[in-house]
Amino acid sequence: MSGDLLITGGTVVEAGWSGPADVLISDGRVSALVETGTATAATTIDASGRLVMPGGVDPHCHVGFTSGEFTSLDDYRECTTAAVYGGTTTIVDFAIPRPGENPADVAYAQREKASQGLCDSALHGCVVEWDDTVPDQLAALIGDGITTFKMFTTYRGETMASEDTVLRTMKTLAGLGGMVVIHCEADHIIGDTQRSRAAAGRIGATDMAATRPALAETASVAEVLAIAESVDAPVYFVHQSTAEAVELVAAARRRGVRAYTEAVAHHLVLDDSRYAGDHPERFVCCPPLRSAGQVEALGRHLFTGEITTIGSDHCCYDTAQKEIHREDVRAMPNGLPGVETRLPVIFSEYVVRRGLPVSRFVELTSAAPARANGLYPRKGTLLPGADADIAIWNPEATWQVTASGLHMATDYTPYEGMRLTGRPETVLVNGRPVVEDNALADPTPRGRHIRAVPFGRGGA
Ligand SMILES: [Zn+2]
Repeated sequence: MSGDLLITGGTVVEAGWSGPADVLISDGRVSALVETGTATAATTIDASGRLVMPGGVDPHCHVGFTSGEFTSLDDYRECTTAAVYGGTTTIVDFAIPRPGENPADVAYAQREKASQGLCDSALHGCVVEWDDTVPDQLAALIGDGITTFKMFTTYRGETMASEDTVLRTMKTLAGLGGMVVIHCEADHIIGDTQRSRAAAGRIGATDMAATRPALAETASVAEVLAIAESVDAPVYFVHQSTAEAVELVAAARRRGVRAYTEAVAHHLVLDDSRYAGDHPERFVCCPPLRSAGQVEALGRHLFTGEITTIGSDHCCYDTAQKEIHREDVRAMPNGLPGVETRLPVIFSEYVVRRGLPVSRFVELTSAAPARANGLYPRKGTLLPGADADIAIWNPEATWQVTASGLHMATDYTPYEGMRLTGRPETVLVNGRPVVEDNALADPTPRGRHIRAVPFGRGGA
């Protein structure tokens, strides 16, 4: 058996299995997964002592996102450059309408940017307000391979959708093979908490954790689960930040509801003590970082299987943007840069330090995000026929995270100074080495928009 490129001598890691095998690549796709030493190719990569994994699929990435007065600082080229350095080879971005814009126009415009990427991307649409044209827009978008739609139960006056809009959107999507992906925080609870705290002068970045209580998340998750169950629609909860919220979803799943949990790296690794440090504004995100006990409890659900995927919720603001309103979190840009650090931080903290099986790591960060977003088996696996997006990982490399050593379009990383074990060394995108020995080998943008397969026909 022969092909264009052979990755030989490594340990292949798939969701559910890892072991010695060689990966044969032809025409940008995996052509075979074979016993070590049984195939040949024009070019060979020696992966001895390395893990050979499907490249990461980041299900939650905001690229150049505008919210309030702020726009996050990266474009597709910059975001995907950082992504590939970190071993991620597919990002899923969001097309979120501003007031007065409609979902389809925004999604089609955003889709055009995929070609600026160093790797492929997919897109979540978004519904904020219901009107009679929404069903036709959703049907058209699903026909064009945009099948997941972000909704919010918070950010009143910006992107918040009413319960009625959530229900109508879920019901419509269920009939079309689409799925709502939803940010759940009960805005009325947060609004009341923030008004009280503002009156007492305690609404700055140092107070972030208390301004958006965990109960607001729990309340909203319960409400949205009930809506999904009532209309028999699938639902995916983004960035669940507490074990209580995850357990509500798990209980619904045991009743037969098609409900899924995404956790994001910063909620699994960082706690709210960061708001007492030197730069509390750098850690302002929604939901906020939780207590050390809550982080520990959330992380346990990576082992129980109750967490479906790990995303980054990458949103690339810099310190200057974060500082402007640091005395009032209501006016601050929310979000942390993370597309580049998601895989190495989770690998080091959970696989190396806590014994999470490496095949489960691939499941959480690549295969399951690909399935939930209708991208599997083209992405998220090394099965023959899959795009040859591959991270060749040195599991023993030790390194220290610094903003200056990363490639995101900002001046800080929430993980500054953290010592990690394991990192990607060589990263292939569609069979081409884009990163070699931790250096960018091919900066040519060849990104493609990947059409998602409707849910229930190859979905999660
Ligand atoms: Zn987000």
